[in-house]
Amino acid sequence: MSDAPEPRPLLDDLPAYKPGLPPAPVPGMTAYKISSNENPYPPLPSVLDTVRSAAERMNRYPDASNGALRQALSRFLDVPEDWIACGTGSVAVLGQIITAMCDPDDEVVFAWRSFEAYPIVVTLAAAKGVPVPLTADHRHDLSAMAAAITPRTKVVLVCTPNNPTGTVVTDAELRMFLDRVPRRVLVVIDEAYVEFGADPTAPDAMELLREHPNVCVLRTFSKAYGLAGLRVGYAVAHPPIAVALRMTATPFGVNLLAQEAAVSSLEAGDELDVRVKDLVAERDRVEAALAEQGWRLPPSQANFVWFPLGADTPDFARVCEEQALTVRPYDHDGVRATIGEPEASDRLIEIAATWRAAHS
Ligand SMILES: *Cc1c(COP(=O)(O)O)cnc(C)c1O
Repeated sequence: MSDAPEPRPLLDDLPAYKPGLPPAPVPGMTAYKISSNENPYPPLPSVLDTVRSAAERMNRYPDASNGALRQALSRFLDVPEDWIACGTGSVAVLGQIITAMCDPDDEVVFAWRSFEAYPIVVTLAAAKGVPVPLTADHRHDLSAMAAAITPRTKVVLVCTPNNPTGTVVTDAELRMFLDRVPRRVLVVIDEAYVEFGADPTAPDAMELLREHPNVCVLRTFSKAYGLAGLRVGYAVAHPPIAVALRMTATPFGVNLLAQEAAVSSLEAGDELDVRVKDLVAERDRVEAALAEQGWRLPPSQANFVWFPLGADTPDFARVCEEQALTVRPYDHDGVRATIGEPEASDRLIEIAATWRAAHS
């Protein structure tokens, strides 16, 4: 044993988060990064003005209680302010949830494959992740997830639409699931992509939250609202949970610019809705073109599509990279491609056609 300071051994087991890489330049081609589910639109002028004027006050600490943002969210969601807890992105809020709920070795059940931050956040808190495989059609297996709950389970994560497969759980499925889950287990519904969904069978998470004190809804300003670079997300939960989530937040974590940009984005909801509708239409166009080519992809309710390529995953990603298109490969499971600029979608459609012709 050395007597040098040693980080906790659990860090050795931490799965690495592979951030979407910047696109590699290819001579003569515009590079596109469609690997991180970012919003391709630049900030709205009104939001940018708010951020610029907030920047003139950045010698001051932000409001530690996120008062104005929670007030705006309270109006937007029609829930009391004390049901809301903010954090530096919903990944950080998820960290607050696990820290608030789990002692070492407590269990957190989640679907797999799902958001790759889940096992990282859970492991960091010294809790134990219990991954439950998706069904053959790339959806949450809620009945297997209910069966995976033990006396040590404190939290279940339901990601809908699921990252990276784009599938949703239905309202009926989630209601049946909630009837089976013990009331002492917190069910987190991660709705990072909810704004892109149009499926009428998708859950009304806010209604489920009102009916079930053990439900917590997680949302973000990073995707539909286009504020990924500012880091702000929130949870909505009944007061005993929401209080705990505010206690486990980094003090003054959500910065001044992020708080004001989020409020300003809620005020610009109509303008942002137009952009979201355009992205949804673009997703539908991509899905239709790929279906036409013979691809059978799971129907996406998010701002990305999922190619379940299995062992061909690295190869498809490499071909995209050669065409200056950065997609997101996941081991030997599949490739996720974000709906971004129409030019990027056109290139994806072309690559997919060539690939399909060579592989069928
Ligand atoms: C992108 C994403 C988030 C949000 O991340 P932020 O930390 O808010 O940027 C949360 N959950 C899922 C499933 C995501 O894909």
